[in-house]
Amino acid sequence: MLDRETCTVDLLRVLLLVEVANFGALRRYLGLARALTLAEELILRCTGALANSRGRALSDRLIAVEFEAAEFAAVQTAAEALQASMAEPLDLDGEHHLVRLRVGGAAGRNCDCEEVRLVEGAEKALSDARAQARDVFRDVAQGEPGIDPLELIHELPRAIRDGEIFLQYQPKVHVRRQQVASAEALVRWRHPARGLVLPGEFIEAAEQSQAIVELTLWTLDRVIRDQRMLAEAGYDIPVFINISGVLLADVAFVEAACRILAERDAKIGFEITETAVIRDPQCAIRHLQRFAEIGVEIAIDDYGAGLSSLAYLKQLPARELKIDKLFVTQLTSSNRDPLIVRSTIDLAHALDMEVTAEGVETPAAMALLGVMGCDMIQGYLISRPVEIDAFRLFLDEASHLKALNNQPFSFRRSDRLWKTG
Ligand code: C2E
Ligand code: CA
Ligand code: CA
Repeated sequence: MLDRETCTVDLLRVLLLVEVANFGALRRYLGLARALTLAEELILRCTGALANSRGRALSDRLIAVEFEAAEFAAVQTAAEALQASMAEPLDLDGEHHLVRLRVGGAAGRNCDCEEVRLVEGAEKALSDARAQARDVFRDVAQGEPGIDPLELIHELPRAIRDGEIFLQYQPKVHVRRQQVASAEALVRWRHPARGLVLPGEFIEAAEQSQAIVELTLWTLDRVIRDQRMLAEAGYDIPVFINISGVLLADVAFVEAACRILAERDAKIGFEITETAVIRDPQCAIRHLQRFAEIGVEIAIDDYGAGLSSLAYLKQLPARELKIDKLFVTQLTSSNRDPLIVRSTIDLAHALDMEVTAEGVETPAAMALLGVMGCDMIQGYLISRPVEIDAFRLFLDEASHLKALNNQPFSFRRSDRLWKTG
């Protein structure tokens, strides 16, 4: 981090988080040991491209580059210089490899700018950069845009009408069959003033107003259309949508959703969070059974994040249990989580349910889950959530590879689709 004493008051402090976008593919070529040295090479290349900058590795695929600048525009200029410096391949033990970068940057004015805000700003920028597939920069000196959820909810009906709301799809892959088994639809908002807004910033507020009904019915309609399109292309897989718990007790919503589903023939699933069901169990169970009777597949989402027992959840007409990503992302670094995951898988199987692990980010986690008997995996390792056209391409590629060589699914995909957003 920048040294406070050396910080000049009028200058901006700049932090760039620089991530290797094609790290997964590179690691397959380089092997684990050499992939670990990539960050060191990257630091040399990046600090060489930016005068008076300092770099350090944050992980095998992520480095931080820091410097001072006179104006905010310097952040973008610096990122462009880094991208340009990667036009030449990196020389790793005599082999040349092209490295693709994703940059999230933040800048704050003078030493009063709290370090934590700078780091948080850069992290948020990197997260947006991944989602938008372009470099993103945030001026933390300007203060946060301060998203007011209630204001957003006010705008939601207009946003739906104006086409600002859109869906991304993330595959769930069956481990033993090496096939894409289904997909999850995730809602996003391309806001004209605020940029990309993720559901974490507006779903909760939408749940406290009628907006969630309109949003979910819109999503259902759009997902049915996309599922039919995929089916016509030869991929008749179920597509799951997230249903807020409040809607399970809303008779008008249940009637409207059943009507839409009855009118059109599509394979649709609902993901229900375990805590949602508990609020009004009898009513929720009744409605879920109605959905199940008309062919909707039911999955229990975020299992482990709440307090319910599997025996209780067995009363629901669910055939799939999704282990919360909190347990999965720490699977290979914690002593406790593998035990929880293992016993959840065994219990779910005893109750005749299939288990999906979400948040699978590393080959190590995938391998461990396979050994534990996990049925399906979902996560950035396989694919980030992507829009329908990219999802269709992903399915084309996955089925080609399976037909060609029956190799382990996630390691044989082309660079083009590897963990792109
Ligand atoms: P969720 O249902 O648990 O969805 C999974 C979240 O994990 C998604 O975040 C997804 O992008 C993210 N994710 C996927 N793979 C990985 C991974 O490998 N690592 C990590 N760290 N994260 C991963 P997202 O899209 O921001 O959605 C957040 C939550 O918003 C969802 O959590 C869901 O509860 C809610 N949501 C999304 N779309 C809708 C919707 O249409 N209706 C309702 N009611 N809720 C929705
Ligand atoms: Ca979900
Ligand atoms: Ca989940």
